[in-house]
Formats: sequence, structure tokens, C-alpha cells
Amino acid sequence: MSDPITPVLTKRWLSPNSWRLSTYEQLEGYTAARKALRGTPEQLVSLIKEAGLRGRGGAGFPAGVKWGFMPKDEEKPHYLVINADEGEPGTCKDIPLMMADPHSLIEGCIISAYAMRAHHCFIYVRGEVLHCMRRLSAAVSEAYEAGYLGSDIFGSGFDLDITVHAGAGAYICGEETALLDSLEGRRGEPRLKPPFPAASGLYSQPTTVNNVETIATVPFIVNGGVDWFRAMGTEKSPGPKIFSISGHVERPGQYEAPLGTTLRELLDLAGGMKDGIPLKFWTPGGSSTPLFTAEHLDVPLDFEGAAEAGSMLGTTALMIFNETVSVPWAVMKWTQFYRHESCGKCTPCREGTYWLAQILERMVDGRGTEEDIETLLDVCDNVLGRSFCALGDGAVSPITSGIQYFRSEFLELCRQNATSSAASSGGDAQ
Ligand code: NAD
Ligand code: SF4
Repeated sequence: MSDPITPVLTKRWLSPNSWRLSTYEQLEGYTAARKALRGTPEQLVSLIKEAGLRGRGGAGFPAGVKWGFMPKDEEKPHYLVINADEGEPGTCKDIPLMMADPHSLIEGCIISAYAMRAHHCFIYVRGEVLHCMRRLSAAVSEAYEAGYLGSDIFGSGFDLDITVHAGAGAYICGEETALLDSLEGRRGEPRLKPPFPAASGLYSQPTTVNNVETIATVPFIVNGGVDWFRAMGTEKSPGPKIFSISGHVERPGQYEAPLGTTLRELLDLAGGMKDGIPLKFWTPGGSSTPLFTAEHLDVPLDFEGAAEAGSMLGTTALMIFNETVSVPWAVMKWTQFYRHESCGKCTPCREGTYWLAQILERMVDGRGTEEDIETLLDVCDNVLGRSFCALGDGAVSPITSGIQYFRSEFLELCRQNATSSAASSGGDAQ
């Protein structure tokens, strides 16, 4: 990794009182919004398209293209909704960003809302992180007091209100349409797409839902320009990215690097494997992305590189496991999570996650049979691509990839059980 430009998003994080408006303004804060509001919304949409900014919430959809789906007229109210319901296991980048540098998100909201002709922005924060709600709400109040939110922002004639809203701790409310249901005061369940939110979103009005990191990147692009942004990352996945590294490393935490950086390089930043115990498996983007192994240390972590190697970039939540960890056990824990969080709307996911967790629990408990491995794969096959939203597909990823790379470990668990059952039944016969 030789890039001289990063850190970008995290560069203010270590400044004293980095979350205060005064600190933010000393460090170029709100210069991008002033500049952006002197131009037109169309210029901003073109800028973000040319920069190639891709969504940082997991799917990597081009942000400028998404913005371009919003109607150009203002016949109906437009909404910008920030998905701050960070819930994917292992993912912990948006909450630190909002804690350390909330004004970068607020400034990004001003610019993005202007580009999409939205006058109300909702930031939907994961309900469990009250400290983050407080920090963000205080920053929004500071911005109102300074006249950076409300009416006639920077004398441009543009008005914007921001509402910070707390979720109630349901993982499914991170799915954008379930989030919109929840914001409307209903139980969060994914909606059928299309229509996509730009056509019919919050209160059935044109809406764009973007991730925190995506929007916090926008002011940097406005100030730095397309060439600067594209100097980082790859052709199709440009720019910097925050990688959340957790698990068996010496220094877990947030590490910013250009997209396309490898785990080998990131491990160097994180001080290497904890106590030198070798790497066994890892997730490139949270537990909804297929597992990688030590063979994948040099896979470029960008949207294309991760996909070509058989996984997904997802949320760049790198959960690192050393050789002491049982793969069936880890897979069982993730599956229990999906069983708990399945919203129950569709049968493959509601029933499938229940059966998958039961079979895995039986295996880990020493009561599994070799046939259970095939049954697991069969159930996965009936969930993958047959569920209503991405949660179902995500739930089977650790299981199928776990068996793909570590089938022998699953077999060994079942064989140990067969051996002990045979021994005990032989004992009974005698
Ligand atoms: P998706 O690919 O369906 O959609 C991504 C975005 O692009 C959405 O905003 C969607 O509206 C838009 N979009 C896609 N196709 C479109 C079209 N034809 N027209 C208009 N807009 C279109 O993915 P998704 O279901 O929103 O998200 C799945 C991802 O979420 C997974 O990859 C996973 O990594 C991630 N995820 C993240 C978290 C987290 O905590 N950040 C939690 C769970 C899952
Ligand atoms: Fe709900 Fe799961 Fe179906 Fe998604 S896949 S709608 S979470 S039951």
C-alpha cells in the first residue's frame, strides 16, 4: 500500500474535541457545502457520478446514479434518509465516524440534499447506541445555531431540516425499505422493489437512502475533485474506505485505506495476528459475505476483487479468526443471529434460518450426523435466491462457504459423534 493520500475520512478523528463545530471549522469544515451551494444540483450529481463514489453500506451501488433517479422537479416533497442503523456483525465504522466527526456527515447531508432537491433529511441511528444519538443530536443543534441548517443556508436560498431518529434495535431495519417503514412508525419489514425509493420511498415520496460513510465522503469529493478522489482505489471502486478490523489481531480498530488494499496490508497496520497464532478464516464484509481463508490474504478488497475471489466486499467488516476457532461453532453463532433477526415475512428465511440453526446446534453439541451436512446445504439452497430480501442470502453465506473451505471440520464433528454413539451402543449390547 503506497497511497499517500489517505487518511481522508478519519483524518480529524484524533484532533481534540473533533466532534465540535469549532474544531471542524478550523479543519476546513463546511467549506465544501458553501462551495456546493453556489453551483447547481445537476453539477453535484455529475460530480459524484464522475468520481465513481459507490455506496459504502454494503451493496456498492453508484451513489451518483442513485441520486440521478430522483425527480428533477419539486412537485412532491423529496427526502434524503441516512442509513445509520449499522447492524451487520463485525461492522463498526459508521458509529465511530458519527462519534468522532459528526459534522462531516451533516455537511455531506447538506450537499447531498441540495443535489437531490430534498428539504428534509432523516438520520436513522441504530437504537442501541444512545451515546451516538446524543453526539449527533448535539452536532445537529450546533449546526442549526450556526445557521448551517434551517432556512436560507449560507445565503443560498436553500432550506434543510435534519431529524435524528433512533431505531429500536432490529437488524432488518437496516434494509432500506424496512427502515422507511420503521421511520413511518410501522413494524419494519422490507417492501417489494421496484418501486425503488426514488420513485416511492418515505411517505410514498421520492426518497434516497444512503449510508453514513457514503455521505460523509461527499464533502471531500467536492473539495478535492474527481482526479484527487480517483487517485485512490481502483478504476471501478475508487476512493478511500474505512475497514473495521476485529478479532484475533494485535490492534483491532478502524483502518482507513484505499479500496483495493489487501488483508495482508491491513494486517500490517493492525499489528499482525494476535500472539502470532496463524490466520484460519475471515470475513471480508461482515457475516453476510462468504468467508475467506488464509489463501485470500492477497485478494484486493474492492467490489470487483472480492467478488472475483468468491465473496463480496459488503461492509468491509474484517472479522479475523485464528486457528483456535472452530468453524462450525462460529457459523452456528452467526446463524443463531440470523434466526433471531429474520423478520418472518417470507417462508424460506423464517423457516430456513430456524432449521439451519437447529442443525448446526445439534452438530456443535455432538449430536450431528454426516447427512446433516448435506441437509444444511439443501436448506441453504432453498433459502438462497428465494428469500424476499438480502437477509436470507446473507444468512446462508457463512454456512455454504464454511462447508466449502472446512468440510473436513464439519465431518470430523459428525464422525466423533458417530464413534461415540457406536461405542455407547456397543456398551449397551454387552
Ligand atoms: P441492493 O443491491 O438491492 O441495493 C443497493 C442500493 O441500490 C439500494 O439503495 C437500492 O435502492 C439501489 N438500487 C439497486 N438497484 C436499483 C435500481 N435498479 N434502480 C434504483 N435503485 C436501485 O442491496 P441492499 O439489499 O440495499 O443491500 C444489501 C447489502 O447490505 C449487502 O451487500 C450487505 O453487505 C449490506 N448490509 C449492510 C449492513 C450494515 O450494517 N451496514 C447490514 C446488513 C447488510
Ligand atoms: Fe424478512 Fe428474512 Fe424474508 Fe428478509 S428474507 S423479508 S428478513 S423473512
